[in-house]
Amino acid sequence: MTAQKQKRVLLLKPRGFCAGVVRAVDIVKIALDTFGAPIYVRKEIVHNSYVVDDLRQKGAIFVNELDEVPEGKRVIYSAHGVSPAVRERAKERGLKVIDATCPLVTKVHVEAIKFAKQGYSLVLVGHRDHEEVEGTQGEAPDVTQVVSTVEEVDQLVVPDPERVAYLTQTTLSLDEAKYMIEALKKKFPKIVGPHAQDICYATENRQTAVKNVAHGADLVLVVGSRNSSNSNRLVEVSMNIGTTSYLIDSAKDIQPEWLEGRGRVAITAGASAPEVLVQEVVAYLQGKGYGDVDEVEVMPENVRFGLPPEIVQAIASAPGAQTVRA
Ligand code: SF4
Repeated sequence: MTAQKQKRVLLLKPRGFCAGVVRAVDIVKIALDTFGAPIYVRKEIVHNSYVVDDLRQKGAIFVNELDEVPEGKRVIYSAHGVSPAVRERAKERGLKVIDATCPLVTKVHVEAIKFAKQGYSLVLVGHRDHEEVEGTQGEAPDVTQVVSTVEEVDQLVVPDPERVAYLTQTTLSLDEAKYMIEALKKKFPKIVGPHAQDICYATENRQTAVKNVAHGADLVLVVGSRNSSNSNRLVEVSMNIGTTSYLIDSAKDIQPEWLEGRGRVAITAGASAPEVLVQEVVAYLQGKGYGDVDEVEVMPENVRFGLPPEIVQAIASAPGAQTVRA
């Protein structure tokens, strides 16, 4: 790397919002338009502080637990999903629920239920403090163990090593998941898993884009919040290739010294980071002499998810709701 290198921005595509995040954010906006503020949301609707602050200003109230929602009020579950215990608690409190769980998270819940019913012990590969993992584990808490490291795989004890199934969090690193699944297969040769991997298309595509571009870049900036699992994984993918990478919430987080001697700066964004923040980063870099901006499309991405029935019905029956964006 030399200071004479031509300064260039490589803007990765796909980046930023995935279909599950678009759907979840739309659900909150439509609920606010249709029913009026306040609308309660359990946990951050998606893991991005800009998105959460914007919805808060529009009238959403974010709570950690359902007990903070007044009885009978309307509450939205986040894109990361909830456990059956949470759904039960909502019923007890007479809450009107709108479920913004990403359909790809729901798919993993359905697999957990299926394997548990078939008598398997479940190993869930993921980060145990993540809401998605809490929700999935909650589908079969008595038979599910969460593992994050190969050491934890080594320590697993199950009633019948021949009846073990694994699932993964949707936003893991593809390489790390592969490594973990190999360790599980070594320990439990008869282990079974889902038909198709649980890591979602958006996580895979954004990691693949970084893998394709990071080796030719001097720096990779990932726009995303600290608590965004898939954003953190993008930084790891780049670092594993040997290219320095930083996770930034916005352009304000960029330290000027990161750019010293670095010509080609790649920019991507986690699945919950809005494009407006990416464009601010591009503008910041242009202000630092990075005049050329090349969008590098590694693969097309055209996934869309429909809205949940409770919101479709609400739109249909609300007066004047035809004007609301669906
Ligand atoms: S990152 Fe994947 S699982 Fe999570 S909301 Fe987006 S599409 Fe769904």
